[in-house]
Amino acid sequence: MVIISERPKFKRYGRTQFRYAMIYVAITFVVLAFLNLYCSASCQRVFYQSKEAAMVEKAQLAASEVGKLDVLTSTTVSATISRMTSLKVTQVLVTDQSGLIIYDSTAQVPPESYATQPQVTQALQNNDVFTWNYRGGIMYSEAATPIVSYGTAVGCVYMLEVDSQQGALLRSLQVTILTITIILELLVIAFSLAFAHTFSKRMGRIMNSMRIIQEGDYSHRVTMNGHDELTVLGNEFNDLTERLQTSENKRRQFVSDASHELKTPLASIKLLADSVLQNDMDMETIREFVGDIGEEAERLNRMSQKLLDLTRGEGADLDVAEIIYMAPSVERVVRMLSTLAQRSNIEIMTDLERDVPILIKEDDLYQIIFNLVENGIKYNIPGGKLTISVDRTEECGILRVSDTGTGIPEDAIPHIFERFYRVDKARSRASGGSGLGLSIVRNMVERNQGQIHVESTFGMGTTFTVEFTAFDTEG
Ligand code: ADP
Repeated sequence: MVIISERPKFKRYGRTQFRYAMIYVAITFVVLAFLNLYCSASCQRVFYQSKEAAMVEKAQLAASEVGKLDVLTSTTVSATISRMTSLKVTQVLVTDQSGLIIYDSTAQVPPESYATQPQVTQALQNNDVFTWNYRGGIMYSEAATPIVSYGTAVGCVYMLEVDSQQGALLRSLQVTILTITIILELLVIAFSLAFAHTFSKRMGRIMNSMRIIQEGDYSHRVTMNGHDELTVLGNEFNDLTERLQTSENKRRQFVSDASHELKTPLASIKLLADSVLQNDMDMETIREFVGDIGEEAERLNRMSQKLLDLTRGEGADLDVAEIIYMAPSVERVVRMLSTLAQRSNIEIMTDLERDVPILIKEDDLYQIIFNLVENGIKYNIPGGKLTISVDRTEECGILRVSDTGTGIPEDAIPHIFERFYRVDKARSRASGGSGLGLSIVRNMVERNQGQIHVESTFGMGTTFTVEFTAFDTEG
C-alpha cells in the first residue's frame, strides 16, 4: 500500500522564502568579499606609496652625499654614510659603476664581490628603482639610485629595509577588516534567516486561515500585526471572508425561508384535498374547496417564480404592495386551516371589521395570518379556542390572533421571533415546526411597515397583535 501524504502548501512557500534569503546572503557575501579585498589592497597601496617615497628619498640623499666625494673608497663612503644618522635602514650597499661593492653597512659581503640585486643593475643604468614585498607580516622595501658625477653614473646606492613593525600594523589592519566583514556577513545571514522565518510564519498564518475557511468555518479571521503589505493582505482577506460569510448566511436563510414558505401552500392543498375526500359535501362546497386548491397552486406557482427570480439575481421582489382589505384574507386562511382545527377539536371564532384597507403585498398578508393562525392551532390544547379579530382605529388596521393554548414561558418570549428558536422542541418538531414561522412573520410585518406584539401567559394562552397603517383611499 502506498501512502502519499500531501505537504501543506505554506511549507513549500517557506522553502521559497529560504531560497530567497540564501540568494540575498550570497549576493551580500560577494559584495562584502569584494569590499574586503579592495580595503586590504588599498591599505597595502598606502603603505607601498609611503615606503617608496621615503626609501627613494633616502637613497637619493645618500647618493648625492656620496657623489660629492672625489674618490669612492670603502673608507670615504663609510665615513659619509655613518654621518647620515637619519637613514635608519637595514642595509646600505654602495657599488662602483661595475657593480663592485665598495661599502656594505652590514659588513656581511666578502671583499671584492659584486652586487647581485637586480635593482643595482637597473640603478647603474641611471634609473631610480624601488621594489616592495610583503610576506608573512614583514615588509621588504628595496631602493636603488645611481651616484651621478658629471652626468654619468659612477656607482649606485642600494638600500634594504626589513620592517616588521609596520608589517604587523598592516596585518592587524587586514585582520580587523576581515573580522568586520565576517561579522557583517554573519549579521546578514542571521537577519535574512530571521526575516525569512518571520515572513513565512506570517504568510503561513494567512494560508492556514485560507484552509480553515475552505473547510467551511466562515467566522474565522486572521490576525496580522504590523503595517506592511502582509497586514493589508490579511485585512483584505478578512473583508473577503466577511462578505463570504454574509452571503453564505443569506443563502442559508434564503433556503430555509424558501422551503418554509413553500410548505404552507402545500399543507393547505393537502388539507383541502383531505377534506374533499373525507367529508360528505354538496357540489357547491366541493367546487369552493377545489377553487381554493387552485388558488393555493397559483400561490405556489408565484412563489417558485419569485424564488427563481431571486436566484437569478433579478429584482429581489417582483410583488408590489396593493391596497387590500384584511378580512377576506383572514377568511381564506380560516377556510384553509379549518380541517386542521377540527382535527384537534379547536373552535375558531372570528370578529372581522370589514372596512380595514391596508397597503401590503397580498402574499405577505396571507402568510402572516396563516403562520399566526396555524401556530394558534398547533400550540393549542384539545378543545381550545382560537379567536381572530380585525379591528381598526383612526390610523391603524389591527389583526389579533388569540388562543387558549399552552402559552409561552416568560423567559422565552424575547426569543420567539429568532430564527430556528423553538420553546418546546419535541412538540414543535411533532407538529412539523422548524422555528422559522414567527421570524418570517416578523420580517414580512416589518418590510410592510407594520408592528407585531405578543402577550402570553404560560398555561393560559397567547395573543399576537399585528398593526398596519390603515390606507383609506377617500379623503
Ligand atoms: P415553529 O415552526 O416551530 O412553530 P415559530 O417560529 O412559528 O416556529 O414559533 C417559534 C416558537 O414559539 C414555537 O416553537 C413555539 O414554541 C412558540 N409559539 C409560537 N406561537 C405560539 C403560540 N400561539 N402559543 C404558544 N407557543 C407559541
